[in-house]
Amino acid sequence: MAQDQITAVTDLRGNIQPVSYDSALIETAVRLRVDRADKTDAGWMAEYRRELDEIYELPEQSRESAFVALDRRYFQRIGISSVVDECLAARAKVLSSATSIFLITAQSRSEEGADVTADGRLVIRVRHSSLENIAVFRDRLRRELLQAADCLNPAFGHSPGDFETLMPSEKERIRTAFSSLWALSARIRLCSEEMNTCEEELPLASMGCLARLRDKTLTALGLADEEKIQVLFSRMPDHPPTFRRMLEFCKEHLGSEKVSKGICILCRFPSEDVRPLAALPPELGRSLCVEFPHLQADSPICHRCVERQDSILNFSCKKGAHT
Ligand SMILES: [Zn+2]
Repeated sequence: MAQDQITAVTDLRGNIQPVSYDSALIETAVRLRVDRADKTDAGWMAEYRRELDEIYELPEQSRESAFVALDRRYFQRIGISSVVDECLAARAKVLSSATSIFLITAQSRSEEGADVTADGRLVIRVRHSSLENIAVFRDRLRRELLQAADCLNPAFGHSPGDFETLMPSEKERIRTAFSSLWALSARIRLCSEEMNTCEEELPLASMGCLARLRDKTLTALGLADEEKIQVLFSRMPDHPPTFRRMLEFCKEHLGSEKVSKGICILCRFPSEDVRPLAALPPELGRSLCVEFPHLQADSPICHRCVERQDSILNFSCKKGAHT
C-alpha cells in the first residue's frame, strides 16, 4: 500500500509518531474538495489550477510524482491533517505509546474506526465521504481516538479475544451492544471534558449525539431505562468501566445464560426458558406491566406466562374490534 507521511503543520503532536496517510485517500480528499469548492476557496483554487497546468507541461515521466507532491501539499491546506494532529494531540499522553499511526481508506461505514493492533500500531480507517464535513469528521475522530487510547491503557484491559469465548448464537448481539456501550462511555467522557473547558452550556450537537447513543445502547441491551447503565457508569468520568466489566454487563443482559433457567416471577415455577421483561415484544411487555405493576425491566418471565399474556392480548384486541 502506497503511503505518504505528512509532517505536522503545527507542533501539537509532541511525542506522537507521524501519521502515514494512504495516498489514494489524499488524492480523493483533494479532488472532492476541488469539485465542491465554493467562493471562499477561490484563492487557493486558482493557485491549484495554475500548478496543475504547470505539471501538464512537464515531461511525461516526471508528472506522476509531481501530481503526488501537489496533492500532498493541498491535502495539508484543506485542513484534514491538522484536524488529525489536533485530535491525536488531545490524547498525546497515551497515544504516544502507539508504535506507528496510519490513516487509510475504509470501504464501508462498518469498517470505519480506530483500532490498535497487537503490536501497538494505531490504524484509523475513514471513508472518503466522511472527510467532506470537517466538523463531523473531527467529532467522530475525537471519540474514536479516546477509544484507541483505552486500548493502549493497561488499566482498561482491552481483550478482544474474549468475544471468541461467546456462543455463536449470542456473539453478534453482544458485540453490537458492547460497541454501543463503549462508544457511550467515550462520549460521556468527551462531554465531561467539554463541560470543563467551555464556560457556557454543552453544545446542543454534543447533547444530541449523547442522547442518540444512549437510546441505541438501551435498545441493543434490551433495557427499558438507563438505571443499570448509570450504576455501571457511576464512577465516570474518572473511572470508566474496564473492557471486562462492560463485556460482563452485556452478557448479563444478553448472554445465553440469561435466557436459560430461572424462576418465573409471575407463576413462581422454575423454567428452562425465562426472559427478562425488557427482552419481550414491547406491546406484550406494556400489557404485562399494566396487569402486574411490580414488574421491573429485568423481571424473569417464563415462556408459558408469555403465551398466556399473548392470548389475552389477542383476545382483547379482537373483542375491541367487535364492540
Ligand atoms: Zn411463569
